[in-house]
Amino acid sequence: MANIIDGKKISQEIKDELKAEVASLAEQGKKCALAVIQVGNDPASSVYVGNKKKACAYIGIQSVSYELPEETSEEELLDLIERLNQDAKVHGILCQLPLPKHIDEDRVIQAISPKKDVDGFHPQNVGALVIGQPGFVSCTPAGIIQLLKRNKIAIAGKHCVVIGRSNIVGKPMALLMLRENATVTVCHSRTQNLKEICREADILIVAIGKPRYIGADYVKEGAVVIDVGIHRNESNKLCGDVAYDEVEPKASYITPVPGGVGPMTIAMLMHNCVEAMKRES
Ligand code: NAD
Repeated sequence: MANIIDGKKISQEIKDELKAEVASLAEQGKKCALAVIQVGNDPASSVYVGNKKKACAYIGIQSVSYELPEETSEEELLDLIERLNQDAKVHGILCQLPLPKHIDEDRVIQAISPKKDVDGFHPQNVGALVIGQPGFVSCTPAGIIQLLKRNKIAIAGKHCVVIGRSNIVGKPMALLMLRENATVTVCHSRTQNLKEICREADILIVAIGKPRYIGADYVKEGAVVIDVGIHRNESNKLCGDVAYDEVEPKASYITPVPGGVGPMTIAMLMHNCVEAMKRES
């Protein structure tokens, strides 16, 4: 039987730590603000944006909303970002993705000042991660490191297999595990012998984006299994990329879906906002 990694509890711990820190910074007259931009009204994006604003309110970060219509031009969005870059009262800028098709996401990501890039997507922050310098790290992989550390799971010297090479999850995850001195293997859609490679993993991090793809035959006895995937199954219940019921008996630690990796993303976004303010003041 595996130990269940409780992302809900750990994310709450982090939010409470941040709340106390924000309160003590407020006593010194320092206030933290996050600009939240949403273009169009994609229902899933509205839920994510709502949850981010709720977390800000809980911690004591001011969230300033910019709800722009679907037909907003790229130039209008870039102008707004430039104004927010210049605004000393705004510490973090979050532009909810995906953006409408007529807007170039890469241009938008690159327009956000790296100092206010709390999502950690700007090439300067990605570069900082590659060469081990301080910067903002993508929230989901940063949250996974917290899950491992706060459960006292050893990383140094372990073989970590990351499945997925997206810019948001797989690649930064691999770099963070390397920074923690793991031996890292990255697998992707062209990997041959995926099952055999996964079976070598002491820590298996799955961000493949396919429901219940990773069964027990991909997992070594006693491995730590981190499931990044989020899907809804036929009966509208949430499930991950890992076949939890099959894998759990083999693993030493495992994240459930929901309640594992998911809640950590917003907690780390809040962490990055507070960090952005501390670096600026
Ligand atoms: P993505 O689709 O961008 O990347 C999936 C990766 O899996 C790709 O790099 C691809 O090469 C690899 N892949 C696809 N098929 C494969 C196969 N058969 N064998 C090996 N590798 C294969 O997805 P993403 O944005 O990295 O997200 C991955 C999952 O995590 C999704 O389910 C997404 O919903 C979820 N997600 C969750 C959070 C969270 O907060 N919990 C955040 C981001 C993403």
